[in-house]
Amino acid sequence: MKRVGIIGGMSWESTLHYYEQLNRRVNEEAGGLTSADIVLRSVNFDEFYQLMKEGKWDVIEQKLYDEVRHLLVYEKCAYVAIATNTMHKVVPEISRQCFFRLRYDPIVHIGACIAHECRKIDVKKVLLLGTEFTMTENFMKKYLYDEHGIKSFSLRDKRDKIKEINRIIFDELCRGVVSPDSKQFLIDFVNQTIRSDDPDTASVTHGSVAVVLGCTELGMILKQEDFGIPVIDSTEAHIGQLVKLSLS
Ligand code: GLU
Repeated sequence: MKRVGIIGGMSWESTLHYYEQLNRRVNEEAGGLTSADIVLRSVNFDEFYQLMKEGKWDVIEQKLYDEVRHLLVYEKCAYVAIATNTMHKVVPEISRQCFFRLRYDPIVHIGACIAHECRKIDVKKVLLLGTEFTMTENFMKKYLYDEHGIKSFSLRDKRDKIKEINRIIFDELCRGVVSPDSKQFLIDFVNQTIRSDDPDTASVTHGSVAVVLGCTELGMILKQEDFGIPVIDSTEAHIGQLVKLSLS
């Protein structure tokens, strides 16, 4: 069994799910009393939230790098998962530094796990839902395209709706609140975006499109049965990969 480090707390609502599911799924695979060998580092999210709002990504990167290093060097973890999509904005640089020192990249990139699920069902294009950072900035969309050839739906002219999705994530889901109105808003957003009258519509009819829950709390409110197209939950994809690596 390989030891896995999880940097969570962003938010703890989704980290709880990581902890529970990683143990459950490792046990399902290995049986008996087997549970996952995990070191869980749960940070104070408010500290990171303030830094994000102030755009201090260099400070976030250094803090997360220090956490990763601690898990690898002192806690002897073989792999580390940063249990949030948004913080993957700084992951390439952390991975680069780790690779430089260790000669392998121990970070389990959540985008690689999403891409792995896309490949399984032959999805070539995704509607990426997540925080305003994830939806409007390029770090995840570019990663999916450059590393895995997966395109993302254009979200231009959707600023106001993206702001509302961001509010739902930070003001509701990260605080454990699941509201039926917010659920309906998200479902309507997805349906309107994929049906919008643009070239993307062609891909929909070819069945190669999926909705990506690219925020680790979105699985609390959206499920596969809410949509007529496949749903790829980044949290489940990440956990799935961690199960495999734990047992590798
Ligand atoms: N957990 C969320 C994500 O997957 C949002 C919280 C954060 O900004 O880290 O992006």
